[in-house]
Amino acid sequence: MKIVVLKFGGTSVGTIDRIKKVTNIITKYVKKKYKVIVVSSAMSGATNDLVNKSKNISNNFSNAEYDVLVSSGEQVACALIAGRLIHKGYKSRSWMGWQIPIITDNNHKYSIINQVYRRNIIKYLKSGGIPIVTGFQGINGEGRVTTIGRGGSDASAIIMAKFFKAEKCIIYTDVEGVYTTDPKKLKKAKKIRVISYEEMLEMASLGAKVMQPTSIQDARLSRIDIEVKSSFKNKSGTLITKRKNIINHSIITGISSTQNDAKVTLVGIKDKPGVAASIFKPLSESSINVDMVVQNISANGKETDLTFTIKSDDLSKTRKITNSNKKIKYKKLLFDKNVSKVSIIGVGMITTPGVTYRMFQALAKHKINIQVISTSEIKISVLIDKKNIKKAIVALHKEFKLEV
Ligand code: ASP
Ligand code: MG
Repeated sequence: MKIVVLKFGGTSVGTIDRIKKVTNIITKYVKKKYKVIVVSSAMSGATNDLVNKSKNISNNFSNAEYDVLVSSGEQVACALIAGRLIHKGYKSRSWMGWQIPIITDNNHKYSIINQVYRRNIIKYLKSGGIPIVTGFQGINGEGRVTTIGRGGSDASAIIMAKFFKAEKCIIYTDVEGVYTTDPKKLKKAKKIRVISYEEMLEMASLGAKVMQPTSIQDARLSRIDIEVKSSFKNKSGTLITKRKNIINHSIITGISSTQNDAKVTLVGIKDKPGVAASIFKPLSESSINVDMVVQNISANGKETDLTFTIKSDDLSKTRKITNSNKKIKYKKLLFDKNVSKVSIIGVGMITTPGVTYRMFQALAKHKINIQVISTSEIKISVLIDKKNIKKAIVALHKEFKLEV
């Protein structure tokens, strides 16, 4: 059986008119002799409305009831899609997570899918039906409805593709694909034709909001090809696949930037074993995610400075925790919210020398000061003043010839 999973995001099913258009996409694949499994999000805005309702009725709304409430958006969208397909003469029906069933762990609000039962869907596909499956939801061992975290229908689609051994999973959305950098920040940004899972993971977790990062990790582990494309325009999108499938690598595939970082500096801490651990232990206990870290080499062998970055949402918590940390001594504690992390990403840098130099040189030419640096095998990130983000992206996009 040649199976394809088609996932539609909120804007793709945002209006009745859009839903009608989406069913044309679905039937196109049916005509190409694919067995189609559709996974849908809620109509755009629906989930937010439901979340707001839960907040308005209680400031301590039960997580189990949250899941029942917010999962209903997907139910509506799926019924409308199936209804339209039936109207057009096709065999189709909606499937709630619990009807398949899609089994999750017992957590609510952030559940994890453990198992998808195949029998019912396979039988239905063989009979020529088009199953329309609710994204974002499942059922737990206690028979209760669960949801898998906001934006989770991407992950639902990938998991369906995995359990049903689909040829590929196509994520239909409101953008044409993944771009070399945010097209809103840089007009010259180009659509990336093909990108590896690893690069896409970096792009996604560093701020490119096309897909939910955990779903890309799921796809990577299961080796599922993902195509991201627009449901509004009939154009080829971006293929996310394994490195082996990518023949023509550029050195850098994309540039991403973050908006909401904050920098913390401890001036004059003791330069001895255990100090850094004492700083970060209470932060980790409060689930504060520390991103970049630098420690200077001590000039006198006694004292040094340490700088790290966190999400700016965590700044006040970090300030409180660090201020009251009896285990460490420092001369000054500095905070800065006006920073942003700009990263260049590309598997090509593994085999190409001089990439770091070119990045720093390009920034220097534009008088952009680098505050903190961090690197991985396929990524170089720098922390810079927020007001320079745009300038930095322009400079790097040009330096690495991403516009051609
Ligand atoms: N409807 C859910 C949300 O808005 C799931 C999704 O769209 O992926 O978070
Ligand atoms: Mg979404």
